Amino acid sequence: LLGSDGEPGLTIFEEITGLANKHQAINLGQGFPDEEGPLAIRELAIKAIQEGANQYAPGSGIPGLRNAIAKHQLRFYGLSIDPDTQVVVSTGATEAIAAAVLAFVEAGDEVVTFEPFYDSYAAMIGLANATHKVVKLRAPSFAPDLDELRKAVTNKTRMIIVNNPHNPTGTIFDTEVLDEIVALAHLHDCIILSDEVYEHLTFASAHIPIASRPGGFARTITLSSAGKSFSFTGWKVGWATGPRELITALRTVKQFLSYSSGPAFQPAVAQALELPDTFFERFAADLGARGDQLAQGLEDVGIQVIRPKGTYFLVADLQGLGNENAVDVAKLMPERIGVAAIPMSVFALQENQQDYSSLLRFAFCKRPEVISEAVERLQLLP
Ligand code: PMP
Ligand code: GLN
Repeated sequence: LLGSDGEPGLTIFEEITGLANKHQAINLGQGFPDEEGPLAIRELAIKAIQEGANQYAPGSGIPGLRNAIAKHQLRFYGLSIDPDTQVVVSTGATEAIAAAVLAFVEAGDEVVTFEPFYDSYAAMIGLANATHKVVKLRAPSFAPDLDELRKAVTNKTRMIIVNNPHNPTGTIFDTEVLDEIVALAHLHDCIILSDEVYEHLTFASAHIPIASRPGGFARTITLSSAGKSFSFTGWKVGWATGPRELITALRTVKQFLSYSSGPAFQPAVAQALELPDTFFERFAADLGARGDQLAQGLEDVGIQVIRPKGTYFLVADLQGLGNENAVDVAKLMPERIGVAAIPMSVFALQENQQDYSSLLRFAFCKRPEVISEAVERLQLLP
């Protein structure tokens, strides 16, 4: 985790955000919305603080939030889970990723992820002294090859980490892929960690949790986050759901990571989970329109875009531009044109980074006028 100079390495998000701030660039690098989540929900958190929600919450989360998480799983996916034994609230999905890996993965085990992958998976697999195996998602479909998937998962595999909808590609796995993952988890007796933080950020089709597929629930820990669904990334309220034995193990580790998470945010998030369907539909529709706006702007200046099916990220391919090395371009862009983005190669194993060298990830969870201004500036990119 150290940088090449031996100093603590910054995550790519901090590095690019630092450059964006230094040059006052529009930050389409780190994924965080520039609009606040619902006012009524923020007011509930303020009220909770005023009413004394300031000491430790129960380790697994306040009952009101655990109930709301269970009700949400039933309402959207028909999944019936016990709020007392099959739900744990975490300090962001990040903590649940850490707790799940530490709970189940031993030194020398193998963990399979898709590549490109969200950065914290690789960090946690490394901290657990496990071996990281990848299955590549190739442009333009970013769908995994099922034969490669079958080869990657073996009896040495302890965990398969799935991220669906997928950061950074914006792809969504179809049911054939989900079912193959479930089948492999049964065949090789391993656990599925399904990071579904972008569950409500889909543009053309409703989200399908892997836990809702036949045989899926028994093997799967599912993660989500109020950061993504309600634009409260700084609140760091996430949760994990799944079978009792898996959640108990995760909760046991979580006790020694943060013990418990933000008591004032939890009742507010509980209410947010009960917002009407129209809230979720409008949020996804607005976001999809912003994705289209940015994609169109990039395409208009001759940059190829792989349109996302979900998340708030899109992938641009610099092939055909003068300088198509996305790492160089990403480091120069904030100063040269006043826009920041993340090179895709940082989401890959060192030995595979060249496979993604022409790809850049842009976040589009920004106000339309900000995207307009970014599109103006991007005209200078080619
Ligand atoms: N997983 C993925 C795929 C993400 O993009 C993020 C967002 N940063 C997280 C997990 C972390 O979520 P949280 O901010 O709730 O810790
Ligand atoms: N999930 C966000 C992204 O992918 C950032 C999270 C972070 O800064 N750690 O951009």
